Amino acid sequence: MSIQVRDITKTFGAFTALRDVTLEVPPGDLLALLGPSGSGKTTLLRIISGLEVPDSGQVLVHGEDVTDQPLRDRRVGFVFQHYALFRHMTVFENVAFGLRVRPRAERPSKAEIRERVMRLLQLVQLEQLTHRYPSQLSGGQRQRVALARALAVEPKILLLDEPFGALDAKVRKELRTWLRRLHDEIHVTSVFVTHDQEEALEVADRVVIMNEGRIEQVGSPEEVYHHPKTPFVYNFLGNVNLFHSRVENGKAYLGNTLIEVPKTGIHDSREAKVFIRPHLLNIERSQNGRTAFGARILHLNPAGPMVKVELETEWGDNILVELSQDRYRTLGLRKEEYVYVSPKEFQVYAEDYSI
Ligand code: ADP
Ligand code: MG
Repeated sequence: MSIQVRDITKTFGAFTALRDVTLEVPPGDLLALLGPSGSGKTTLLRIISGLEVPDSGQVLVHGEDVTDQPLRDRRVGFVFQHYALFRHMTVFENVAFGLRVRPRAERPSKAEIRERVMRLLQLVQLEQLTHRYPSQLSGGQRQRVALARALAVEPKILLLDEPFGALDAKVRKELRTWLRRLHDEIHVTSVFVTHDQEEALEVADRVVIMNEGRIEQVGSPEEVYHHPKTPFVYNFLGNVNLFHSRVENGKAYLGNTLIEVPKTGIHDSREAKVFIRPHLLNIERSQNGRTAFGARILHLNPAGPMVKVELETEWGDNILVELSQDRYRTLGLRKEEYVYVSPKEFQVYAEDYSI
């Protein structure tokens, strides 16, 4: 089942939470809505589910306009950050609940319910814990029960609002991989809300980046990471150095160093911004004819997969460079040393964006 969202606008009093939002989720895809807190992700998810009504615009599921359809008719599976399970029910009963409350004519037989619940509990790897109560489960296990419960009623679409947000970092990472695998098996069209860029990039087929109620960019994780359309997206998707620059005759200035602007269509501008990720800057002992600027090492942190080097540029800005452990050992860097920094890849935005 596909989901289409067309020109959705939603206000709360004088505040506009969503502005002309249009997007499409192809059948069977897992789409991540990614953005900072307050950017409108939950509001959009609630509108897709029918919990909230938009001021204008439409929601279509499988081509059918469901904008005015109430929640109970939409067959939506929902998992929230704190989806309280029924405390007085076992894991089995929690998952079976949505089927047992159906009107008699639509309710599967006892044996069918049992079979379906056990199949789902196998899918979320909880078949050993069917008789436990929620208080006897870990946070990660509870969210897996919540997911099985959402899937039990065979939803047309599955909506997840920061489902791992309350869990600690290690469990989050495990559940991420696990959700990806689960989705590969069941292929239910899903929208997954998160403010964690790593989570979105790792789990989703496509990522929608939201900012202040608008969509900044839609694309595959690879596209949005390597070809960010706006400074906001570049900045939001990981660590980045920002250089205030200007573009003249197709060249951008980093201090007094000129770098060739590769992309056509970047016009001359006094207000250009150049973004370079820390691992896309190299450190050299000598300039040797390279495009490089001078900098002094302020701090070295070799603990971690990459060595983090903080430097002060010749024009007085602080920047961060990440080097491989190998490169770091080869260079033998020391604090306070003067070195040369050369960009391997960079992104130039010549508009006068505010970030
Ligand atoms: P996100 O999920 O991205 O953090 P939300 O969709 O929850 O963002 O909220 C977007 C904005 O809309 C926020 O500024 C929030 O305060 C506001 N908002 C959300 N729901 C309501 C409401 N029922 N009444 C008033 N303002 C709301
Ligand atoms: Mg939210």
